[in-house]
Amino acid sequence: MNARFWYTFFSQSRRGFLNPNSVLNKLRNIPSKLPSHGNHCNIMQGPGTTGEAMYYPRSEYKSTRHYQGQVKAVIFDWAGTVVDCGVLAPALTFCELFKNEGVCITEEEARGPMGAHKRVHIKKILENASVQQRWIKVHGKAATEEDIDRMYKKFSPTVLSCLHKYSNIIDGVVDTVKELRRAHGIKIGSTTGFPKEILQTLLRTSESQGYVPEANVAADEVPEARPCPYMVWTCAMRLGVHPIEAIIKVDDTVDGIREGLSAGCWTIGVAKTSNYVGLTEQQLDDLSQLELKQKLAHAYDILIDSGAHYVIDTVVELPLVIKDINRRLAGGEKP
Ligand SMILES: [Mg+2]
Repeated sequence: MNARFWYTFFSQSRRGFLNPNSVLNKLRNIPSKLPSHGNHCNIMQGPGTTGEAMYYPRSEYKSTRHYQGQVKAVIFDWAGTVVDCGVLAPALTFCELFKNEGVCITEEEARGPMGAHKRVHIKKILENASVQQRWIKVHGKAATEEDIDRMYKKFSPTVLSCLHKYSNIIDGVVDTVKELRRAHGIKIGSTTGFPKEILQTLLRTSESQGYVPEANVAADEVPEARPCPYMVWTCAMRLGVHPIEAIIKVDDTVDGIREGLSAGCWTIGVAKTSNYVGLTEQQLDDLSQLELKQKLAHAYDILIDSGAHYVIDTVVELPLVIKDINRRLAGGEKP
């Protein structure tokens, strides 16, 4: 079928010169007008397809385009991934916010939804059946949106009051990032469940310790934060990096891994410094081998179950994983 035929056919259809029956009749008549070989397509009426036009491709096989270059960017989470080993600042802040409302929560309850936008995090803690019961006992009814707004307003001032104690860059991060840039030409970005105000403070303290990502996105800069992909996509645009298969998201929480997966990039979970181990570097050093093994196994299970492509102990192991991802990309794999 030549281009002129299609032009005439569709332009007449759009103008209403042809009614639906005459369109079908025209399609049914096409095969007899076509030579049997060398066409771009054949339109046939097969068994059981009365009145339907079926499109047969030129070949049984279709070639697809895939990225086979190397990793171009790594987008890191903050707490538990590059700073604040054990994610103490947000965990203690949530405990404090609930204590101020007369409802004590455990650190485990506070850590459950870690990674989410902090207002969503408060809401999710309140959805925990046990917390909800305690809340109703104190307040006489379930928490309302106004209660959540009131607590969220206090989140930033509360976390800022303790952030100076918990914003140390995790051991090995600065050197690893240097190596990623130098040896692999990789760009560094960041996303976070924190609002922009906290991110700005983190950027100032991390700069003084030698860690400066080229692009950063906070949870309140996008319509929906984790596990939605918008922060990763925004960060990719700010970095000027594409395709998405050339980007790795590194995170210590389930929502952070899901954020990377929904964005379409490679995902790496970090276990040892994570929210699911919940210990500072000093506390980790003080653990026995057996205790460390048990805590690591727990964190690995959670992060593997979240769908992460890889799980590693700390960011220091990244270069090895990047080498493997480059190998997989060259072989035609997608995340
Ligand atoms: Mg984190």
